[in-house]
Amino acid sequence: MIDFRSDTVTQPTVAMRKAMASAEVGDDVYGDDPTVNRLEAMAAERFGFDGALFTSSGTQANLLALMSHCERGDEYICGQQAHNYKFEGGGAAVLGSVQPQPLANQADGSILLSDIEAAIKPDDIHFAKTRLLSLENTIGGKVLSAQYLADAQALAFNHRLKIHLDGARIANAAVAQGVAISELTQYFDSVSICLSKGLCAPVGSLLLGDERLINKARRWRKMLGGGMRQAGILAAAAELALNEQVERLAIDHDNAHYLAEQLQGVAEFEVNVAEVQTNMVFTKVSDKLDITAIAKVLKKQGILLSPGSVMRLVTHADISRNDIDTFIKALKALL
Ligand SMILES: *Cc1c(COP(=O)(O)O)cnc(C)c1O
Repeated sequence: MIDFRSDTVTQPTVAMRKAMASAEVGDDVYGDDPTVNRLEAMAAERFGFDGALFTSSGTQANLLALMSHCERGDEYICGQQAHNYKFEGGGAAVLGSVQPQPLANQADGSILLSDIEAAIKPDDIHFAKTRLLSLENTIGGKVLSAQYLADAQALAFNHRLKIHLDGARIANAAVAQGVAISELTQYFDSVSICLSKGLCAPVGSLLLGDERLINKARRWRKMLGGGMRQAGILAAAAELALNEQVERLAIDHDNAHYLAEQLQGVAEFEVNVAEVQTNMVFTKVSDKLDITAIAKVLKKQGILLSPGSVMRLVTHADISRNDIDTFIKALKALL
């Protein structure tokens, strides 16, 4: 299958399967899994935090961050398009009694600092307590500038807010900007990172933070059913995700650019190549086209899309330039 739906579909590499098969493991709820411990220590050190926690998913890592920064009746400020507002089932509200305060995302993915400032509630019994600012990078495939991150951190500090980053694809942001991941995580009190997207691990995310936050998060993780036993099997693949897959993302970015260029040659699809910054291409589909029907036919030919009036196509390790050519050819033939 040539699968453009997401980078979550990537298969674990051969090296990952080998490492998983021979991983040294223990009961991680007792703190006994050497591979999990090594992964957490490496991630904390590499990304500049006291501690790290290996979680079952990015959704869980974000939820743990929100529940560990905020108490019942607190709120977090985030973007309308934020994954941890829009795509995580309202978990912070349902499970944490934490209220989101979503604000408009600008075209570049940022939230205006003036909007953030205006949304911070004064100390008044009518209001939830604004506790946390949560940003996302990359967001919709777009990279936030380091200057913006620094300005957001200063704003949060001045208003005594904590600042969290949903960095599911922070490795894509770092590679796109040619900087170390730690340069982009330094502005935050906590960061979540997905290992199971472009980095090819089968399962798992990391939450990074100071010791107090990670201890709190570890307690919540257990309560939420995320205490995993011989999790070193998964951590072994996660280590390889961090050590062997980050630089490779540059290829995905090149391929996304190539895909956007090729799509530009198909009249029914509108693409702005200049807007492609990482591994995602967004294209406006002509409303004369039944894209759902087209996706059904392409599926029979082994090509998977998420049809929509604005369609997102994602490049990743299991999509080559050849695959993109195959897709464009099939699409043109159909049209
Ligand atoms: C995928 C994603 C998550 C959640 O990760 P899961 O492992 O799918 O739960 C969180 N934030 C962003 C920005 C994501 O893209």
